[in-house]
Amino acid sequence: MRLVLLGPPGAGKGTQGVLLAERYGIPQISTGDILRDHVQRGTRLGIQARSYMDRGEYVPDGVVVSMVMDRLEEPDADHGFILDGFPRTVAQAEALERALEETEEPLTAVLKFSVGGELAVRRLLGRYTCPTCGRTYHMEFKPPAEDEVCDVCGSTLERRADDDELTARRRLAVYREQASPLERFYAERDLLHQIDAEALPDEVVDRTMGVLEALP
Ligand code: AMP
Repeated sequence: MRLVLLGPPGAGKGTQGVLLAERYGIPQISTGDILRDHVQRGTRLGIQARSYMDRGEYVPDGVVVSMVMDRLEEPDADHGFILDGFPRTVAQAEALERALEETEEPLTAVLKFSVGGELAVRRLLGRYTCPTCGRTYHMEFKPPAEDEVCDVCGSTLERRADDDELTARRRLAVYREQASPLERFYAERDLLHQIDAEALPDEVVDRTMGVLEALP
């Protein structure tokens, strides 16, 4: 299973990616997570990427493409992968297509998670993650028992630096600029499937499994 997850920030790609990765036993590869890890470690790539991420803009294609190509060569991706947050531009999609043509292992499907803009913003502004155990929370939809404290390990929860309202709205606008050509690219290849993501995560996973099981 080689999947690409599309959809605006706040559509739930990360949540769906984790759940699908568990069900299929393949890695979820999130370019946002890899970039944040570089930023945290202060690598050259992280220093280069940070200014774009802080502004809610896309990191240049060349940087992201080579990062993903390296990741896809790791052995855990031999039997499939779930790409979350990549590709985001047609140039990235073309680079991925060329790489997969070389291995003769094309994409299985591209899943687009749809969610209205205001719900996406509410989801982004309320989300928190535990830096120790990785558990995710939401102030409104999935609050911890004690404010900003992880139920499981007691660590103080953190918000993503780019989840403030101004940057979240900029990220949505940047997404909208690139989304149509990217969706057309995959629709022309008969790979694009749209999934209504305005539901609880388990319901969205069931809808996604329904789409995947119906594939020829
Ligand atoms: P995400 O975690 O997917 O919301 O990504 C967070 C930020 O990382 C984005 O706002 C971009 O600045 C950057 N980023 C992640 N994936 C890509 C990509 N495929 N192309 C360009 N920038 C990306």
